[in-house]
Amino acid sequence: MSTTIERDAALVGDMTLTNLSPLQSALFTKTGGVAHGVTRRIPDVQPAEANISYTAPRDRVEAWRMRQLWSASMGIDAQTLAVPYQVHGSGVAIVRRRQAGSGAAPGSKLVAKADGVITGDEGVALMTTHADCLPMLLYAPETRVVAAVHAGWRSTVTGVTRNTLRTMYSVFHVDPDEVLAFIGPAICRACYEVGPEVERAWSLIDPSDSAGAIVRTGDRLSFDLVAANRQFLIADGVQPENIEESGFCTRCQGDQWFSHRGQGPLTGRFGAIISLNGRY
Ligand SMILES: [Zn+2]
Repeated sequence: MSTTIERDAALVGDMTLTNLSPLQSALFTKTGGVAHGVTRRIPDVQPAEANISYTAPRDRVEAWRMRQLWSASMGIDAQTLAVPYQVHGSGVAIVRRRQAGSGAAPGSKLVAKADGVITGDEGVALMTTHADCLPMLLYAPETRVVAAVHAGWRSTVTGVTRNTLRTMYSVFHVDPDEVLAFIGPAICRACYEVGPEVERAWSLIDPSDSAGAIVRTGDRLSFDLVAANRQFLIADGVQPENIEESGFCTRCQGDQWFSHRGQGPLTGRFGAIISLNGRY
């Protein structure tokens, strides 16, 4: 592992991309024992602005190069990435070390069809991909379990966050009390106009909208992904002081983040990555 990381670090130097700085959680960094980060959009990095997605029409070779560089910047070997096929659902998958590399390099098979992925193994790095949908990284430092969640409105209202926490508990005996949560850049409630189906779905979860997740301005409805997912975390026993929010909106701050609504469907994706392995 260490030789691979050294090789990737050398690669960074060769590529003159020595200053890649992923967004990281202060809470995770302070706690230690985990390698993680959220990649960014960098308009100056051409041709693809530091995109990490392989979906057409994007350049897979360039995206793989960026996955390697971004991973190295977090102390992670890109060959150990495990990437799910995200379906805007609430399904959760357990990822094992033997699945490291599934969905990592171009052409490799994605690890599972799921919007939440969990591992208790070292040597595998979970990665979800985003362009407005909320990324959430979870870390249980005592039990040594990590998770990555991709939450747009559908995954949010169908309970992907709850399912992830409950699977961490049922499979790995992770007490929500020890879970640290990092909520990354997502489209903000001012930018995220939604249809009445979202309000209907949310009203079944939080009838009085105590989370303040639905915002109505005249005829316009919008949804607060951060508030809604925070509500799920707290309802399932995560301590409020263990929840960290990045505060970034992908659309308002589109110069730093890929945004489907801001830049259109052909824009790139950024990745949220977490691993129990790596250079801490
Ligand atoms: Zn915004």
